Amino acid sequence: VTELANVIHGQNRRAASGRWDERGRSPDGTEELRALPSTDERDVDQAVESAAATLPEWSALTWPRRGEMLRALAAALASQSEDLATQIAIEVGKPLGEAKGEIANAVRVLEYFAGLAFHSEGELVSSARDAVHLFVERRPLGVVAAITPWNFPVNIPIVKIAPALLAGNTVVWKPASAAAAVAYELTQCFLAAGLPPGALNLVLGSGELIGSALVDDPRVAAVTFTGSTEVGKQLSQRAARRSLRCLCEMGGKNAVVVARDADLDLAVDAIVEGAFRFAGQKCTATSRVIVEAPVRREVTERLARRLSELTVGPPLQVGTYLGPLISAGGVDSALDHIRAAEAAGARVVAGGNRPTAGQFASDAYLAPTLLDKVAPSMPIASTELFAPVVALLEARNLNDAVSIVNATRYGLSASVFTSSLTSAFTFARKADVGAVQVNLATAGAEFQAPFGGTKDSGTGFREQGTASLEFYSEKRTIAMRYA
Ligand code: NAP
Repeated sequence: VTELANVIHGQNRRAASGRWDERGRSPDGTEELRALPSTDERDVDQAVESAAATLPEWSALTWPRRGEMLRALAAALASQSEDLATQIAIEVGKPLGEAKGEIANAVRVLEYFAGLAFHSEGELVSSARDAVHLFVERRPLGVVAAITPWNFPVNIPIVKIAPALLAGNTVVWKPASAAAAVAYELTQCFLAAGLPPGALNLVLGSGELIGSALVDDPRVAAVTFTGSTEVGKQLSQRAARRSLRCLCEMGGKNAVVVARDADLDLAVDAIVEGAFRFAGQKCTATSRVIVEAPVRREVTERLARRLSELTVGPPLQVGTYLGPLISAGGVDSALDHIRAAEAAGARVVAGGNRPTAGQFASDAYLAPTLLDKVAPSMPIASTELFAPVVALLEARNLNDAVSIVNATRYGLSASVFTSSLTSAFTFARKADVGAVQVNLATAGAEFQAPFGGTKDSGTGFREQGTASLEFYSEKRTIAMRYA
């Protein structure tokens, strides 16, 4: 095993501690993962110093010049797509085709923000005073700390890093430990493409230690986080102690509602895609299906049939629909929830165990699972599992379905399948989520539109689209008397 390094001011750096932390094997059990530097506050300090030192030079470039850099990063990423996708498949267990799709999307995100460089970066406001020119310009915040999860190890970091750089900030990036090698390779790819050393610095290691050091550092002007609700809340409370600008994208318990007038072919396809791609490990994955009583039996039977046809297999195997979970512990915890739900009266219709058919080199696999007769009061109906598990609940009517949708602490994504315009609008108005879908899967946000959750799924700011600039830059109003 060769060790990974932090990347500070364009240089590979060992941790100041001189130590490494072993990581064990990949989710599918096939590869020994590279050890992480045992980073401490001294390393974080150097990374922030590098970002702060690079700020004057980077922020002085025009927006189009920074946009050109993003376009070069897009081309570099596209050219390394094959290698990086393979790394993603190995390190986090994402099926290769999905990993390639993630990179293709990330390339478009970079190109999108490159294009945004040519949009207006401010506004002119009519002054009520004579001979006064009143205008607003966008300014960078300074050093931005980005803390990211393992499930989209390329796309989520780029959704943060691209607009942060475009707006003239420099970045210290702390990726999830489970996706550290992908983060290291991505950083190297960007540096090789000409990104100035210090514009992006990478620190690997303990989330709690590095996250706390970044949030407490007075040179850090903002923190952007995507991950679990528990960590996001902790982080935003810490950030609030020094009024630090903080964006948190957090967990979800996303629901699909199938109304009695739904196109069931469409609904079942979208549930399977939304719930079982990447083994349910997406923040927007479908984990609840709420069905109106008259179509419950039919939806349950169709889903059970489809689940029995999905191929569970290693992420690099052709034809794999869902691979392993990030860890065997993730499977254990999902199984605990499944057993508890069964004990409370739910019924396993499909899956419900580790797969029995096939050869698996690790315990991190879970058969795609469907539970029927789930009640809203059962923990499985409100806890984010991050696993290929769907809880099916019955609703009396659309209003009842919407109250079930809203009965969790999360508010990320929710879908309704219906052929009625009235039901679609009623749902869109009443579902308390950041992303409403009509006749579409819960997963699959488009990068040019704002994305984020309500309640415990987010902290209010939105990312993606032009909404990103609201977080990654600050408006200044300039009033200028010219006579
Ligand atoms: P996580 O455990 O919360 O970790 C996210 C990041 O935070 C990692 O880099 C982690 O580092 C770091 N971290 C851990 N403890 C920290 C602390 N005390 N202070 C600061 N940072 C800390 O989440 P995950 O398991 O990687 O990702 C899965 C979660 O992300 C799910 O809940 C999912 O819903 C959510 N998610 C949300 C969105 C969205 O857009 N809303 C998108 C994707 C995922 P280490 O890895 O070193 O612990």
